Amino acid sequence: MELTFVGNRAKRRRPVVSPQACDLCGAKMIEQQATSDTPYPYTISGLKNVFLVNIPIKRCSSPACAAESVVIPQIAALHRILTEELLSKRFLLSGSEIRFLRKNAGIAAKSLAAKLNITPAYLSRVENGKSGKNKKGLLGPQADKLIRAIIAVTYSHDKEASKLLLSETEMLPSKRPMTFTCPLNRDRWGKIAVAQ
Ligand SMILES: [Zn+2]
Repeated sequence: MELTFVGNRAKRRRPVVSPQACDLCGAKMIEQQATSDTPYPYTISGLKNVFLVNIPIKRCSSPACAAESVVIPQIAALHRILTEELLSKRFLLSGSEIRFLRKNAGIAAKSLAAKLNITPAYLSRVENGKSGKNKKGLLGPQADKLIRAIIAVTYSHDKEASKLLLSETEMLPSKRPMTFTCPLNRDRWGKIAVAQ
């Protein structure tokens, strides 16, 4: 897949037909390699601090034109290893990191908000860095950990954990202790009777 971007605005353009000429101004495209000295900022992912190295970038030779064409191979694999890094990050996730993780796991904002018992509007403010603790888009450590667990379980095949973490059922405050009556029937534990 080949995408052309103009400046830093992540505008999706039609694929470049001729690799030699700029599809915006017709000037010659020059191919350069993103190196560790000149890494490619992967801002179209929504993450500000991700840089790609060793990928070919074609840039328009016209100084007046900021057209750029970049081919990113195996995007799904790249996003998977970025997800793993973010899930094991030692610091609280930023709003844009939460959005990246959520989108890559295929979870709708409304759905994640319900799982966290927060409103979609609040989650949106968090992801945009406009709310949360210290107004930096951070949720507290408990919500942060819950988000990571929800994301991790979407990639796992653990049915019990999926049922627990992906359910949108609200936990209610308990009025009185619940009773679990566990009958032993012929050396086997039978169905538990639950009463409140
Ligand atoms: Zn151009």
